[in-house]
Amino acid sequence: MGRDMVVTSDMDSVRQSALDHLWMHNSDWITMAEEGGPSIMVSGDGVRVTDSEGKVWIDAHGGYASVNAGYGQTGIADAMLEQMKKLTYFPQGTTTVPLIRLVEKLGELAPANLERVWPASGGSEANETAVKIARAYHKRRGDNGRYKVISRRGSYHGATGGVMWMGASAGLSDFEPAMPGMLYAPQPNFYRCEFDSSTPSECAERSAKAVEDLILLHSPDTVAALIGEPITSAGGVSVPSDEYWPMVREICDRYGVLLIADEVVTGFGRTGRMFAMEHYGVVPDIMTIAKGITSSYLPLAATISATYVADAFAGEDNVFRQALTFGGHPVTAAVALKNIEIIEQNDLVGNSERMGAYFLERLEELKGRHPSVGDVRGVGLLLGLELVRDRETKAPFDDSLQVSKRLTDKMSERGVIMRFSGDKVTIGPPLCITKDDIDEIVSAMDSAIGEMESELSLR
Ligand code: PMP
Repeated sequence: MGRDMVVTSDMDSVRQSALDHLWMHNSDWITMAEEGGPSIMVSGDGVRVTDSEGKVWIDAHGGYASVNAGYGQTGIADAMLEQMKKLTYFPQGTTTVPLIRLVEKLGELAPANLERVWPASGGSEANETAVKIARAYHKRRGDNGRYKVISRRGSYHGATGGVMWMGASAGLSDFEPAMPGMLYAPQPNFYRCEFDSSTPSECAERSAKAVEDLILLHSPDTVAALIGEPITSAGGVSVPSDEYWPMVREICDRYGVLLIADEVVTGFGRTGRMFAMEHYGVVPDIMTIAKGITSSYLPLAATISATYVADAFAGEDNVFRQALTFGGHPVTAAVALKNIEIIEQNDLVGNSERMGAYFLERLEELKGRHPSVGDVRGVGLLLGLELVRDRETKAPFDDSLQVSKRLTDKMSERGVIMRFSGDKVTIGPPLCITKDDIDEIVSAMDSAIGEMESELSLR
């Protein structure tokens, strides 16, 4: 009996085993059991996935905005198998052909000067590595006091020991004490700007200026780096206006602070450019990538450093001391190469730009029809929406109304995977999405939001 047969003919026991043994993201087995057990996905094609009951879903969430090339790319599976048959694994120190080809390709795609690639297995690991490189870089240059890291409130950079503290997420008190040296700057999100500002530019400029104030307050010779997503994906997406990153780049240069661009979500075409910093004409000192590098076909990530940063680690006494067993795994590298080829050959970056513009237009129309849609925003196929109880005052919904759960459930009933977090949602479908797919998602949102508004007497 083939594996698929086991899965489909014995689904009740599979579901029970999940309830008995699996510990998953932000969920618990008791609630999951009350809700009938987890959905179990068994296959995927393009922007759609099929569950064990045979229900076909459209994935507006794009597997955490990571399945850039779409599901079911058999060419990637072939590349994986071919490499597996040749050499499944060899640790770094010695290296392998697919990994060398991949770092060569990344050097070509990344902005000028970002040439030296440290491979890892996931976005958190890549960001941990970036922060370690930044701290060690200053030490190598005799600047021993620089260890603080600035991140922006409302950002997310990963789940592991150090980076979980970057972004000041709520709900971390279980894990205290926090990593020392965390500094927080404002998120340049005009809709919720921390400053009284009448234009997106004013919000951007004041938010950038706040970075400088923070550096001066803590003394520049204590600050190692600033980490930020060029366009923030968490919290329903935040797109800084054009002034922000050039100003932050200039401030970092002025005070010797390294700029780390977290392109874990935004890389590989997500925002209609290969990398999102291209929208701002800014080159970071270090860039991290994951997700779209393999479209999540296998786990792979990387930290790419500018030559002048990496060169601080050249020479026998200077090496960067870190080993990651799975970093640069040759099979994942072969998968990444094939994935990047598919993204390039199918112009998925261009499609992201075009379809993103169409999607945003459709979301704007939705906002026109629904009083609870406070704001829609985004670039390319990284789009966000924020719901509010009162559009005038921007007052959020009371938690007890469970807006997030209501809408996630209503979208599920309509066959659309869209995970609301609080009253915000981040949309990041595969980049091969079409206008028809977008129409299907928007029409489901239209009726789901309408139904919620009626239930809450908002119309
Ligand atoms: N950075 C950003 C911007 C992310 O969104 C994420 C994950 N969603 C990470 C880093 C962490 O990546 P991973 O989950 O692969 O560790």
